[in-house]
Amino acid sequence: MKSLNKVQSHLIAECFNKLYIGGQFVDAIDEEKIPTYYPATGELLHEFPRGKANDVDAAIAAAEAAWAEGTWAGMSAAERAEIVIKMAQGIEDNIAMLAEIEAADVGKPYRQAAMTLGGAAGEGKYWCSLGKVLDAEQDVPVNSGGGEGGVPPAEWDVVYRRDPIGVIGLISAWNYPMNVAFRKVAPALVAGNCAILKPSEIAGLSCMFIGKLAQDAGIPPGVFNVVTGDRDAGAALAASPSVSMISFTGSTLTGSKIMGACAPKLSQVALELGGKSALVVFDDTDLDKAVETTMKGFLANGGQICTAHTRLVVQDSIEAPLLNKLKEELEKLPFCNDPITEKDRGDRAWEDGMTDVVQPVVCDSQHKKIMGFLHEAKAAGVEVLTGGDVPDEATVGNSGGYFIQPTVLINVERDADVWQKEVFGPVLSVRSFSTEDDAVLEANSTSFGLASTVMSSDPAKAMRVANRIRAGAVFATSTGEGLLAEHPAVSRGGFGFSGVGRELGIGGLHEYTELKSVNYTGFSLADAKNKHTG
Ligand code: NAD
Repeated sequence: MKSLNKVQSHLIAECFNKLYIGGQFVDAIDEEKIPTYYPATGELLHEFPRGKANDVDAAIAAAEAAWAEGTWAGMSAAERAEIVIKMAQGIEDNIAMLAEIEAADVGKPYRQAAMTLGGAAGEGKYWCSLGKVLDAEQDVPVNSGGGEGGVPPAEWDVVYRRDPIGVIGLISAWNYPMNVAFRKVAPALVAGNCAILKPSEIAGLSCMFIGKLAQDAGIPPGVFNVVTGDRDAGAALAASPSVSMISFTGSTLTGSKIMGACAPKLSQVALELGGKSALVVFDDTDLDKAVETTMKGFLANGGQICTAHTRLVVQDSIEAPLLNKLKEELEKLPFCNDPITEKDRGDRAWEDGMTDVVQPVVCDSQHKKIMGFLHEAKAAGVEVLTGGDVPDEATVGNSGGYFIQPTVLINVERDADVWQKEVFGPVLSVRSFSTEDDAVLEANSTSFGLASTVMSSDPAKAMRVANRIRAGAVFATSTGEGLLAEHPAVSRGGFGFSGVGRELGIGGLHEYTELKSVNYTGFSLADAKNKHTG
């Protein structure tokens, strides 16, 4: 395919064929490669190094040396941010190339890839702007924290500091490769850590470019490293006694394994995991808006979003008209047969509430996994309102790609796998409710708790329900506006199976620091500072 050749020519660059360790692009110790395929056709896209435990060890050694040398941690956060911001600018300057790569690697429409890469650059700049905020948090006097009688004795000059953690591992997922990875890289570096990034083996090509961005920005050798590889490389990173924190984005199962690997050494974890978010629609909601929001919630990025709203909880009085309209709209949606060249359409979800094209899912194994859920659901008697299968070959240009019809499953039992488990594809499960209490019960009826939305034209009702939903990010809306949107200043994260810790906002930066108190007695902090600078 012509469009694929263009991307493949970008991938000839050194950074897409080597590991980035100690400030250099180096070959992996073994010569083994990992193939990656264009999801729209199944054609071979690229082969990149399968880094192994010995490559991970080399990267850890480079990071340890940089940490021991101390220059990076010894700079102020604002000084580090001045360097890291060049990496964010590098993303912005290379959006066209990176969007082609992500379109080819993930199968998302170019238009959507370019938009979200712009978001990664903007968010990176936000993290850098927090450098001076972090500096202002150094040597801050301890106060009562708002409690009564809790002020430390007057003869203590006790202050808080926020130290970097040390050598840390960043393990990322494939659905928004650059966004997920850079959301870790930027705060980790601004906070003063030395880091090793292990991108996803399913679609992580754009992340390999972060090594080049670090090199060009002048990040000191060893402070930032990239090792591509599969789960074994991730496991080696998580288990290393030299790694003091793992920041992970991926599935709940892997998150739990990583927590287990970190337990014996009691190292920090930040885990951004899976979700099964509910969209609760009350009968006072505008029907067209409810349908648009439902489509956007479960179909954006092909349903491959941690916060995808893959459970619809609809008030019984409007269930029939809403489902009729939803079926009608879904059956009109075209498939995206060549994401790399898809520059006009493509997941308008991010802009105006529409989902206008259906992308393939990322790879053969995900395709098989999703189809497995559908076969099992159908075998168990779950009703299919629409979809439920792969599209006709002719509909998708006889492409051989990993396409699945947008699927709506209705009257789903609460204990069914398609209600309880993350499918991570274009599949929506529906249940209805009659009372407000039932709506809350349904929304909270899984072990996940990443996001959820309540739609109603009654603000008081929306607030009552939003406050009872157990999820890290809840939207209360009459229009659906803002669904799935993120702002770098708004912290998010998971309850239950959806994770540990929070990302984004100042709290997200704090995840990459250790809070420390220093108690000066016999002399004051001011004395110490005078001696230090004098
Ligand atoms: P995954 O868990 O299969 O893999 C994620 C990463 O972990 C990959 O780099 C992989 O190589 C590595 N890995 C696998 N096994 C490992 C092990 N035992 N030890 C260490 N590393 C290991 O997830 P995925 O399929 O890449 O991503 C999809 C998942 O990510 C979904 O569950 C989605 O909800 C979740 N996700 C969550 C967020 C969030 O912010 N909460 C964002 C994006 C994606």
